Amino acid sequence: MSEALDQYGVIGHPVAHSWSPFIHGMFARQTGQALAYHLHDVPPERFLEHVADFAARGGRGLNVTIPHKIAAAALATELTGRARRAGAVNTLMFDGARTLGDNTDGAGLVRDLCSNLGLTLAQRRILIAGAGGAARGVVAPLLALDPLEVTIAARVAARAQALAADFGEASGVVLRGCALEDLRTGRALPDGGFDLLINATSASLSGEVPSIPDAAIGATATCYDMAYAPRTDTPFVRWARERGCERAVQGWGMLVEQAAESFHIWRGVRPDTAPVLALLAHGGGATAS
Ligand code: NDP
Repeated sequence: MSEALDQYGVIGHPVAHSWSPFIHGMFARQTGQALAYHLHDVPPERFLEHVADFAARGGRGLNVTIPHKIAAAALATELTGRARRAGAVNTLMFDGARTLGDNTDGAGLVRDLCSNLGLTLAQRRILIAGAGGAARGVVAPLLALDPLEVTIAARVAARAQALAADFGEASGVVLRGCALEDLRTGRALPDGGFDLLINATSASLSGEVPSIPDAAIGATATCYDMAYAPRTDTPFVRWARERGCERAVQGWGMLVEQAAESFHIWRGVRPDTAPVLALLAHGGGATAS
């Protein structure tokens, strides 16, 4: 590795499609920070060895993506509260013998929803479709916004229920886990539908949409897909628009905001996300309607 610049990167498998080098490159230029940021495509069996080597050679920080977020939480010597609650780490910072693990996904989503999109979520009804790693990372930050209720719905009810049980007692907000099928039968569908529907499944990656009934989309609902696709709508955004949803949004904002949070942790400087998001949303992917 070139020793002249502070070294950062994103580690995943596969990771070639990642926008993180582009985003952090823009942040570095914008803030005048001298750093290098590279892709690290590393399979699970080499994850620990690769991270140890990177840190031993002076590497300063790594973003962590699929499938390493849980392994990254296990290797950190210190976890932030939000990383501990999420049980997953997307940001590692190396400082001598100390390895700090943080999770900026939830903060990134909340900043996109509340600051960029201007949503008010207090006393609103939120649906999270999917109960995987990304869903786990955003539950606590969403509960902190004091919504009326949060429903987590997954293909397998037990997964959604287990996730809800992990966060429910502390929150004071009505938090339930159910099967996606329970939305279709109406058992878990509030009157008038949800105000915010978040697709935290990976269904978009295989061209699919989680099985959500049309009645789940409230009259003034926002449909938010954590997934994003260059120069096209994701299947979930297309699905929502076809059902009359006036605000259907891809996850570009979450991506840029979680990266900005990582950048701030590493460099102590908060970049301006607006120009980066504008470039990605208009050049990289379709905009919100
Ligand atoms: P995981 O693999 O941990 O979880 C994926 C979840 O999707 C599982 O609950 C799985 O259900 C569910 N799923 C997959 N296909 C379907 C389907 N057809 N119908 C219903 N459920 C389905 O992935 P992550 O949680 O890490 O990521 C989820 C999505 O969020 C991905 O698209 C990812 O790219 C995106 N993401 C975006 C970020 C951003 O910054 N914008 C940040 C992090 C993630 P089951 O358990 O039944 O298999």
